[in-house]
Amino acid sequence: MQAEIIFTGNELLLGEVLNTHAQYLGRELSAQGIEVKLHTTVGDNWAMLKKVLQSALNRSSLLIVTGGLGPTDDDLTKETVADLLGLDLVMDGQTLAGLEDIFARRGVTMPKNMKKQALLPRGARIFPNPVGTAPGILLQTGGKTIILLPGPPRELKAVFEGSVKKYLASVAGRGMVMRSKLFKLTGISESQVQDKLRGVQTGENTNISYVAMPGEVHVRVTGRGENEQQAQKLVDDLSVQVSARIGGYVFGVNDEMLEQMVGRLLASRRLTVSVAESCTGGLVAKRLTDVPGSSRYFLGGVVAYSNEVKIKQLGVPREVIARFGAVSDETARLMAEGIRRVTGSALGLGITGIAGPGGGTPEKPVGLVYIALAGDRHTNCRQYRFPGQRDGVRSGAANASLNMLRQFILQVT
Ligand code: ATP
Repeated sequence: MQAEIIFTGNELLLGEVLNTHAQYLGRELSAQGIEVKLHTTVGDNWAMLKKVLQSALNRSSLLIVTGGLGPTDDDLTKETVADLLGLDLVMDGQTLAGLEDIFARRGVTMPKNMKKQALLPRGARIFPNPVGTAPGILLQTGGKTIILLPGPPRELKAVFEGSVKKYLASVAGRGMVMRSKLFKLTGISESQVQDKLRGVQTGENTNISYVAMPGEVHVRVTGRGENEQQAQKLVDDLSVQVSARIGGYVFGVNDEMLEQMVGRLLASRRLTVSVAESCTGGLVAKRLTDVPGSSRYFLGGVVAYSNEVKIKQLGVPREVIARFGAVSDETARLMAEGIRRVTGSALGLGITGIAGPGGGTPEKPVGLVYIALAGDRHTNCRQYRFPGQRDGVRSGAANASLNMLRQFILQVT
């Protein structure tokens, strides 16, 4: 099933309000295997909306339109759709009774213009709005489906979760279905990923797409098929090839959060961890403690930004820093062992690197990071070169640190 979404509202065009519906609906529809082909944003302009709706109906089988269902004169969506489809607006008794009930419970007289919200295009089906006054509306015409949703994000989500989702699940399996798998990578740039995947064959119904963000590259493998199984098989087959080439950089798959996964692993093995962070400035501790219940396994950390803190708090010998540098394999190992000793945790992470923009040298360029993990028997240290700017290097280092923890727990315990 191919869909497009039309967002309405001058505030979106003016940049006053961020279009969060785009992200929410994009995720929800693709999770259902519905392929979103196009997003369009239209102001509160009747003629323009009509044109956009007309062309969208020629292209797509499912149309979702958000906003403009309110009681004021600039709320025009319902009226425009009805006009386009040649439907008159009729008062829906049940919706009107619901509105009157809301105002009666609030103990206020219902404003006259509120009645407009109970006017629906003839033949419309209603998706109830449990947190507002404008219901969602479903219309079907010539094999096409149009769904109108209220603009306020809280209401849009409530209507979608409450009934639209279920409706879409019942119809999404008809026609082409889309499935996808997301690989999250760190320690590699987007163009390097593309290089590594050069030669992996995609066909008419498969696709590989890339998104670069600070410290991460996302690779999405997509398959389209006549049914869920067919689409999933395409995704699985292509994923095997993708994994074989870039698996070493992958720190997460689909929506799973690395810190949650690490937390689950630590808790289930009754292990504790502490962190000594230099270039990440507490980011790893922050990520670990974002997870509710992290006190079960996270003991604490030191932001050892200066050499003096590395020496005094973590016991890194002054001579080691003088000889090998603060950003070195040796210092990272001693930071990890130091924090483990200080806190008494089972595992200790030590992170030291050059986040930039300044401070790089030909031998130690910006992006160079050493991450060490100390356990009771030995300490591992890896060297990374993270591409990008300061925030990319720091979040890349945090991802790699958490991933190192994940891999260690899986391999050793
Ligand atoms: P209302 O009854 O409030 O008039 P409505 O269905 O007519 O609801 P709009 O008037 O278009 O919807 O928008 C209501 C609120 O929702 C506004 O604050 C608007 O900024 C916000 N909103 C609308 N569309 C979006 C969007 N795409 N992303 C984020 N917020 C949005």
